[in-house]
Amino acid sequence: RSNVARNASKAIATAQHFTYVFYNEIDRQKLLREKDMENRMHLALGDDEFVVYLQPKQRLEDGEIGGAEALVRWIDPVRGLVPPDEFVPFFERNGFIIEVDLYVFDRVCAMLRRWLDEGRPVVPISVNMSRAHLRNNDFLEPYDRIRAQYDVPAELLEIELTETMVFANPELLIGVIDDIHRHGYRCSLDDFGSGYSSLNALKDIDVDVLKLDRAFFSDEDADNEREWNVISSVIDLAKKLELETVAEGIESIKQSAMLKEIACDMLQGYVFSRPIPIEEFEALLSSGKEE
Ligand code: C2E
Ligand code: CA
Ligand code: CA
Repeated sequence: RSNVARNASKAIATAQHFTYVFYNEIDRQKLLREKDMENRMHLALGDDEFVVYLQPKQRLEDGEIGGAEALVRWIDPVRGLVPPDEFVPFFERNGFIIEVDLYVFDRVCAMLRRWLDEGRPVVPISVNMSRAHLRNNDFLEPYDRIRAQYDVPAELLEIELTETMVFANPELLIGVIDDIHRHGYRCSLDDFGSGYSSLNALKDIDVDVLKLDRAFFSDEDADNEREWNVISSVIDLAKKLELETVAEGIESIKQSAMLKEIACDMLQGYVFSRPIPIEEFEALLSSGKEE
């Protein structure tokens, strides 16, 4: 039990200042769940229990779908649909996220290949890349291998790096972003504004897309002047830096109208669509193109 308490305290950033921590049953349950996931994760990947959902990004200029983000789900025969928040942080710690990310990338490339072959409408798809990949200098090699296997143009693929990755070590990330570009992929800065982003670092961060985190959009009625002054200033700044802008977590029509007014490029949020299975996304994309 003291080991449970000790391990749990490692997840708390301020715990290094404590001289003692308490055991609690919730931590033990969490540890048991993680052990269980660890025991089953490899088989689950082989058995296609991990499934890719797509969340459309809506272009604000004309209302059409301008792209989508691939988001992983674990469809567990026992537990049902498990959201990524319950396994991604754990897999980032034990390294299994690398295999999950590559699996998602494989499924996305296979899908794009099929769209191209079937003459369907095609939009760029973004995938999340965990910081765990960066431990390997040649982290793009497996991505390239998969992309080549399906012969998908790299410009249809976008790699999302999170703000925390970038600002934890800007020098390293500048090189990473260069690599991503050299291999032909687009690159976006995800969760921008969720933590301690330094506006100053933006001048060195040569991404193509800035994804504004939900944290910017607390005001569903879109009438908080200070909040919208901040948002429109960030969007103006992004434009000056020639970055595309995507607003994340948009839930109300008022917010969406306001974003259009301040010329944000795209929106990703429940107001337009939740993350949906690939077949549903394909239907949505085809119906949009026929109109
Ligand atoms: P993220 O990359 O920031 O993805 C956006 C999250 O916001 C998604 O949660 C999405 O469902 C949610 N979202 C979208 N629109 C709205 C909205 O209007 N309101 C609210 N409340 N939420 C909205 P999801 O799918 O649960 O994913 C959570 C996180 O898990 C992702 O955050 C990402 O960090 C991670 N993740 C998901 N799939 C992968 C993956 O394949 N690889 C890696 N490394 N991480 C992933
Ligand atoms: Ca993301
Ligand atoms: Ca995000």
